[in-house]
Amino acid sequence: MPQPRVLSGMRPTGQLHLGNYQGALQNWVGLQQSHECFFCVVDWHALTTDYQDPSAIVGNIREVVLDWLAAGIDPERSTVFVQSDVPAHAELFLLLGMITPTPWLQRNPTFKEMQENLTDRDLSNYGFLGYPVLQAADILVYRADTVPVGVDQLPHLELSREIARRFNHFYGEVFPEPAALLTGAPKLPGLDGRKMSKSYNNAIYLADGEEIMRQKMARAVTDTRRQRRSDPGEPDDCPVFDLHRVFSTAETQVEMAAGCRSAGIGCFDCKARLCDHMWEALGPIYERRMEMARHPGRVAEILAAGAEHARQEANLTMERVRAAMQLAR
Ligand code: SF4
Repeated sequence: MPQPRVLSGMRPTGQLHLGNYQGALQNWVGLQQSHECFFCVVDWHALTTDYQDPSAIVGNIREVVLDWLAAGIDPERSTVFVQSDVPAHAELFLLLGMITPTPWLQRNPTFKEMQENLTDRDLSNYGFLGYPVLQAADILVYRADTVPVGVDQLPHLELSREIARRFNHFYGEVFPEPAALLTGAPKLPGLDGRKMSKSYNNAIYLADGEEIMRQKMARAVTDTRRQRRSDPGEPDDCPVFDLHRVFSTAETQVEMAAGCRSAGIGCFDCKARLCDHMWEALGPIYERRMEMARHPGRVAEILAAGAEHARQEANLTMERVRAAMQLAR
């Protein structure tokens, strides 16, 4: 029996950080065991918000793919490709745009939220309003059975499902409705205690070496009760301890929590133990990334092979779409 097909994508925003790894990438690596995976760098999506300055996009594609491969995405097993290498995404985006009512897009909560938050740019462009249609095209062009999403992304997937239903209603059954594969990864705090994010400049990157990681952790905020070494603290109120929960053994967590509450250990020692555990997880990824980066042609080869396979699958879908819409000549 064929494995269910999964599609997931990331924007080429540059090097990936621990939050990206924990939130999505680690899950993708696991999915390769049970699913036929299509992993796509969605460079056209980057243009919906960064159209005024697209200069970083091409370089960022390489950084993202290096991180994917280093983390364990296996191009022998999964299809790894760039969205703009598969023109069918654009054709299906155009055709789905014909049937998608604009109120569906205007009510998208992310649309208003991002327009309000990203005040450094003009997001009144048509491409930004229509990005959920492009997202639907990305998924439907591979007839994906399922899409890994966090709870906050469920409305987006629902929109893709609604678009698929509307297409099937007008023209006959072409698209399976993609089901949500809920991922429950905890949100990682960054060095300043807010959510880890490139835009907050509070992130540890997969490409950071051990020394940089330790230097960054040294300035990470801790429980404010611990002004002096002798002040007891509360690990439940400490972002550093949230990272212990993800990376450290249960034994270390018990030891550090007790030491924090009794002021038996200082934050310096607590962070050092955390870094030891973090590096056990991140060291092999970092080494693989360095090795891969020494062979610049390899990423290009992987993306070319991935695009070839993705184009074949997407073209099959587009033949059915054109036939269903009576566009085939
Ligand atoms: S000892 Fe550890 S858990 Fe406690 S405040 Fe310091 S860094 Fe946080």
